[in-house]
Amino acid sequence: MTQHHGHFGCLTCEHPGKVMSQGKGHARVYPPTDFLLRTTQYLIKKARIASTVGPIKGTKGVSTLLGLDWFYIIDGLIFADYMHGVLLGVTKKNFCSSYFQPPIQSSPFHSISHQLYGQKYFDHFVLFVEGIYLLLGDCNSEKQMERAELVLCEFYNSFGKLYGENICTLNLHNACSHLLQYVKLLGPGGHGRVFLSKI
Ligand SMILES: [Zn+2]
Repeated sequence: MTQHHGHFGCLTCEHPGKVMSQGKGHARVYPPTDFLLRTTQYLIKKARIASTVGPIKGTKGVSTLLGLDWFYIIDGLIFADYMHGVLLGVTKKNFCSSYFQPPIQSSPFHSISHQLYGQKYFDHFVLFVEGIYLLLGDCNSEKQMERAELVLCEFYNSFGKLYGENICTLNLHNACSHLLQYVKLLGPGGHGRVFLSKI
């Protein structure tokens, strides 16, 4: 598969991303839009074709993992997880590094950092907190899952307008668009598994 910064770098869907200026360079970003979710069957089909004609929407060729009968490459792996997407991604990189450290003059956060406690930004951040809190619950009802999807979608859709489309990172995209999907598949306990690999 294409790496996270490449064209069609999202491993869960076919959002191609787009390259925009970011700081002193450029980065691939994922503004909210409609996208087709990848499935294991779809991936196998594309991988076989890609093996002969070249990359197709992020699929470069056949992985040896596809030969395992008991393994489903999309549903069996966690491409959007709490640790990377939420804690290290959106919370640390997007918010903490911008709000609580001296702003860079060229950064889009330069003016925003002075509005840290502005009600509009606070209300927006609360959407993210509520959505993630719900996804971390052990006994979520269908209604709570719908609420999590709603507030995370609203947070994602408003993010670019408040902070700039050029910082809609893959972590933001994964946390707001795909985390719910993995919680439904693997349960909130699935988030903890990636912490073990860091010990
Ligand atoms: Zn995606």
